[in-house]
Amino acid sequence: MQTTLAPAFQNRPDAQEAAALLRSCVHCGFCSATCPTYQILGDELDGPRGRLYLMKQVLEGDRPTAKTRLHLDRCLTCRACETTCPSGVQYGRVLDTGRQLVNEQLPRPLLSGLVRRLLAVWLTGPLFAPAVAMGRLLRVLPAAQAAGVVPHRLHARRMLLLAGCVQPALSPNINAATLRVFDALGITLQVAPDAGCCGAIRHHLDDHDGALSEARRNIDAWWPAVEAGAEAIVLNASGCGTMLHEYGHLLRHDAAYAAKAARISALVRDVAEVLPALVGQLAPRLRERQPQRVVFHPPCSLQHGQKIRGAVESMLTTLGAEVLPFADAHLCCGSAGTYSLLQPQLSRELRDRKLAALGAPRPEVILSANIGCLTHLAGGTPLPVQHWIEWLDAQLA
Ligand code: SF4
Ligand code: SF4
Repeated sequence: MQTTLAPAFQNRPDAQEAAALLRSCVHCGFCSATCPTYQILGDELDGPRGRLYLMKQVLEGDRPTAKTRLHLDRCLTCRACETTCPSGVQYGRVLDTGRQLVNEQLPRPLLSGLVRRLLAVWLTGPLFAPAVAMGRLLRVLPAAQAAGVVPHRLHARRMLLLAGCVQPALSPNINAATLRVFDALGITLQVAPDAGCCGAIRHHLDDHDGALSEARRNIDAWWPAVEAGAEAIVLNASGCGTMLHEYGHLLRHDAAYAAKAARISALVRDVAEVLPALVGQLAPRLRERQPQRVVFHPPCSLQHGQKIRGAVESMLTTLGAEVLPFADAHLCCGSAGTYSLLQPQLSRELRDRKLAALGAPRPEVILSANIGCLTHLAGGTPLPVQHWIEWLDAQLA
């Protein structure tokens, strides 16, 4: 897709990058077949090729309209199109710049902008966790949500763990289970107290400066442990992992942070990357158990964002689970960060389709790897929905 930058954008590095990325698109349209919004709405402009075309027009100087924004807002940022694209178009990076340019030229209506700012502050701020805890108390917290005992032993092998912002409030057991499983494998996970939200929430709400501030704060919080030789920065929320992999790219023009950000991104490992080499030693403890019928929903941030495919399913099989296949595993469940709040109808339709596919092989439990997917799916099914590391932790108990 040949793009001639408008004079106003010719000296902007983000616009130059977007134009260069657009050049590799050959208009083939293969990506439309795996785009969830195109499947539901059937409009070319609600598929990746159409959205790329809209962004090319903006880069070439066409004034964006409310319709331009509508089609870009409906994108889940699931990046299934990147996995499908034979030309390797980095759609997600073009979209970041496209949305930024649209917002600069066409500020959001007051209410819409306010809702986004409130969401960013609320979800990543200090009041979210107490509010969720209060809500749980009123509903009477199910026993499975309790975090349980976390280990305090120190091992020779040490890694950092990002505790996250939304996840510890909504499901504290995920971090506790991660600490216990790593402890059983002889690895101590350290949580840097000053690290917080990875920045993904603000980034997806188009608050790019706020996201970069959170990235810099995390880098500062982790740097002493990195210099002391931490092996890896471990993530158990695949959405955060995708964001941390982007730190090096997002801060590449920041003289003070570029090198550190690249080092942090290189150290990032999803739990699904660390454990396959180690869990074999746990298998004998699990072999005598009755195999459980499970389905694993691979979050988009795991399979498309981080390109980690099949690792969890293989590991669960090694550990004695019967991992059941289901249709359209490449499609988004509709959670997509704050998408479920901002595009509720599309989000619910995608969730219903996903739950129908996941339920078809009659599993005993639905497993996944990202807090957004877990919460979203759990809201629409009577089946138990767990992070796979919680399932493993429970099997070891
Ligand atoms: S990121 Fe997902 S929703 Fe957006 S265009 Fe690509 S496949 Fe479609
Ligand atoms: S599959 Fe890739 S090259 Fe083909 S239209 Fe989609 S983005 Fe362009």
